[in-house]
Amino acid sequence: MADFYELKVSNLYKETKDTVVVEFDVPEQQHETFKFQQGQHLTLRKLINGEDIRRTYSLCTSPIENLWKVAIKQIPGGVFSTYANTELSIGDELDVMAPAGNFFVEVDPDAANNYIAFAAGSGITPMLSIIKTHLLSEPNCTFKLFYLNRTVKSIIFKEEIERLKNQFFERFQVFHFLTKEQRDIPFLNGRFDKEKLAVLTKTFIDIEDTAHCFLCGPQEMIFLIRDELEAAGLASDRIHYELFFSGENEASKLHIAEVLEHKVDGTDVTIIDAGKEFHFVM
Ligand SMILES: Cc1cc2nc3c(=O)[nH]c(=O)nc-3n(C[C@H](O)[C@H](O)[C@H](O)COP(=O)(O)OP(=O)(O)OC[C@H]3O[C@@H](n4cnc5c(N)ncnc54)[C@H](O)[C@@H]3O)c2cc1C
Repeated sequence: MADFYELKVSNLYKETKDTVVVEFDVPEQQHETFKFQQGQHLTLRKLINGEDIRRTYSLCTSPIENLWKVAIKQIPGGVFSTYANTELSIGDELDVMAPAGNFFVEVDPDAANNYIAFAAGSGITPMLSIIKTHLLSEPNCTFKLFYLNRTVKSIIFKEEIERLKNQFFERFQVFHFLTKEQRDIPFLNGRFDKEKLAVLTKTFIDIEDTAHCFLCGPQEMIFLIRDELEAAGLASDRIHYELFFSGENEASKLHIAEVLEHKVDGTDVTIIDAGKEFHFVM
């Protein structure tokens, strides 16, 4: 029988129009139980319309921060994510399980590792925890984040990512991919397919020098990137991924692809990096 702990929501705010950040007050006596590794998640439980609803959410904070925060993106028709985005308030209590999950690699302060990460939409939550933790704990590591969103406004944790970029400007690079907004400098064209990933792995990513890669987003995207990175020479034990949802049938696969990728097929993509903008079609 899983153990749940009643935790109070100590803070709550909208990060984007459809994503709410929820912070929990973990009492001192439960700090040991709620100790976590970067990239781990919490399972939340709530009785909604008489039904026991349990959903998992990745912590977006680093263990170093001593904060327990999750970001919940509203899924159209989604029971828990709609409740969290429309009804949950500061002071409410939720049943929360202790942190769990294996989406991390051990921190090594003496290592000079180069990490890469691909995230789409709410897939940024574990990444933020992982990125902060490695940058803060490994003074010689570098991180490249490839982050796909629909528009600038829908970028979850845009400001926090910018702050991190400023804080670690020599070690942290962010490439924003946008599916619904265009900028001026065309860079690449075509679907986000084998060919395009091959270009990325030749121009932006030094495969031989990559210690670990983290992937979080829609299943199709994760598997495509995983396969292409492997084909480019990255060992499979260096590729780590977290699936938020794997549709068991074609209808739900389509649903998740549409919700998370907002039908990105054939849409224009913009990458913004250090003031430069690149375009291509995914
Ligand atoms: C390890 C792990 C970590 C996760 N971390 C996060 C996180 O940090 N932030 C976050 O917002 N979500 C995260 N999720 C997803 C989350 O657990 C829920 O699945 C999501 O919030 C939908 O729950 P719901 O009750 O609103 O939707 P439901 O009522 O369960 O589903 C409604 C409809 O949406 C479909 N659906 C269910 N889940 C998804 C999904 N993720 N994407 C698209 N369609 C879906 C269902 O097939 C159904 O048609 C994580 C999942 C896992 C397994």
